Amino acid sequence: MSADIDNVQPMQFYRPDYHIKTPDMRSPEYVQMSTAAAITLGLIPGKMHRTACTHCLNLLVTYPEGCRANCAYCGLARHREEARDYADRNFIRVDWPTVRFSDVIARVQAGADRGQFQRMCISMITHPNSDADTIILLQQWMAALPQIPVSILSNPTTMEKADLIELRRLGAEIFTVALDAATPTLFERTRGKSVDSPHRWEKYWQAIEWASEVFGPERFGVHLIGGLGETEQEILSICQRIKTMGGHNHMFAFYPEQGSLMEDWPAVPHDQWRRIQLARFIIDYAGGTIQNMIFNTFGQVIDFGLPTARLAEIIHSGKPFQTSGCPGSDDTEISACNRPYGDSSPSDILSFPFTLNALDVEFVKNQMINKPL
Ligand code: SF4
Repeated sequence: MSADIDNVQPMQFYRPDYHIKTPDMRSPEYVQMSTAAAITLGLIPGKMHRTACTHCLNLLVTYPEGCRANCAYCGLARHREEARDYADRNFIRVDWPTVRFSDVIARVQAGADRGQFQRMCISMITHPNSDADTIILLQQWMAALPQIPVSILSNPTTMEKADLIELRRLGAEIFTVALDAATPTLFERTRGKSVDSPHRWEKYWQAIEWASEVFGPERFGVHLIGGLGETEQEILSICQRIKTMGGHNHMFAFYPEQGSLMEDWPAVPHDQWRRIQLARFIIDYAGGTIQNMIFNTFGQVIDFGLPTARLAEIIHSGKPFQTSGCPGSDDTEISACNRPYGDSSPSDILSFPFTLNALDVEFVKNQMINKPL
């Protein structure tokens, strides 16, 4: 069915800042979408610094009762219930407006994104309906827009292997596990019993192993947050483990979400973050390994294990410092999911949602060696 733009009804767009969320605004009929995706679809006015769009339609399942987990750093966590209405809570720094899924499909079919979306992603949460509704959303998308591949940002706590097999059978291209924390201790302390949250390290790794089996090489990955208290060596060891299994690593700089249990935790230091970005890229895309890297006693990278000229070439490309995520149709090393300002502000960019220019690369190089600006 092709819908032309002129006959598409103006979208019933519920802006959280002046709309009380009603119990019927829940998935699978409704989803939340990232602000960048809403701007790209022309649903909300707005400009993003130095980038006109996102190439990934990031969607989030939504229920008025919210996520049942309680991760210490997350904007959607249960502990933020008192602070803000679920629909009103920001997630990875930005607002996620609520929209009717059928309207989203109609607008994309009508070309409202001007062909910018190279991927759609369904982010699950910890909720009794999340698994079943994710299946319904995927089926509806594959029936309407199979040409735009789908990633699933999963919630392993409520999933079994059969769920992954079904998602793969229905057309999901990439399966990702938001591991986030790089060590069992940090995972437990930020997502487990310590914060009265149901997630378990072992279950998350079981889901990663299932994903490597069911989805296969290059078709699964993890989210990792730099700055939760891990060393560079610890987070890069996870990157190497995922790469060796055939997957990819999608990095986020820790950002202290207001109202979260970690709102007073310091943002990740620039030099640490830049070294993590560079080393992750070398492991994921430049044939390097952690075995060839050298770390000091603080677990900081002091040698990236590549010849100087090759290292300079990679840094000069700027690619390691761009947002890392699921690929688009252009360059597999570059993420379609550029999540504009999802982990930092335009005045202090940590993950660049656009190609770096020479000045940006100089800026990043200075940060990496902690040279005062
Ligand atoms: S990197 Fe982006 S598209 Fe891929 S799973 Fe994560 S949020 Fe979704």
